[in-house]
Amino acid sequence: MHGPHNKIWLFIALAAVLMGINANADCPFVDIQSVNPTIVVELRYAGTKNFVNHPLYPQGTRALARPEVAAALTKAQTTLRRYQYGLKIWDAYRPVSVQTKLWEASRNSDHVANPEVGVGSLHSWGVAIDATLVDSWNRPVSMPSDFDDFTPAAMWRYTGSSFEVHRHLRLLHWAMDRAGFWGMRTEWWHYTISDWKKFLPEEARHSAHLQGTHWNGKL
Ligand SMILES: [Zn+2]
Repeated sequence: MHGPHNKIWLFIALAAVLMGINANADCPFVDIQSVNPTIVVELRYAGTKNFVNHPLYPQGTRALARPEVAAALTKAQTTLRRYQYGLKIWDAYRPVSVQTKLWEASRNSDHVANPEVGVGSLHSWGVAIDATLVDSWNRPVSMPSDFDDFTPAAMWRYTGSSFEVHRHLRLLHWAMDRAGFWGMRTEWWHYTISDWKKFLPEEARHSAHLQGTHWNGKL
């Protein structure tokens, strides 16, 4: 059959394909645990153990990130497994709406990015994650501080209150560095993929800045 009907159907089919592509572009993130089920996830903003003391994520929220970030986390996990440790994710992709709530709750620009300045938090782009160490049984190990602890113990250069803490912190930094992440001066648990600029729109890159600390220490 020829005629205008054919063209309409072709148009509808094409539109359906394009919409499918668009739907993927709208959510460029993957579930970290679907990429690596051995990585432990405990999203602190999904519960009450955070600095606002109430849940900001709906029940069942998954830890999402750029596929490249999830792949790099797998690299870090492989390194840590060799030493009988593993990663636990405290936060990953963070919607701007949640960033706004954190900003309003803290009003502390040293620790919380203002979502209305520049690109906001790099968590909202799926290129930053918060992580700590667990042992081979996925139990917590001693670290310098808890999540979102805004004290000097959160500092990247903090040497730790004990040999154990110091060793754990250095192991985490080292594994993340090898996997292609940058640490952050003021939060030992915060890591950004080193080529994060690639994943931001051109115009946003210029307004973004990062206190990157490329870890050069030895284990
Ligand atoms: Zn963070």
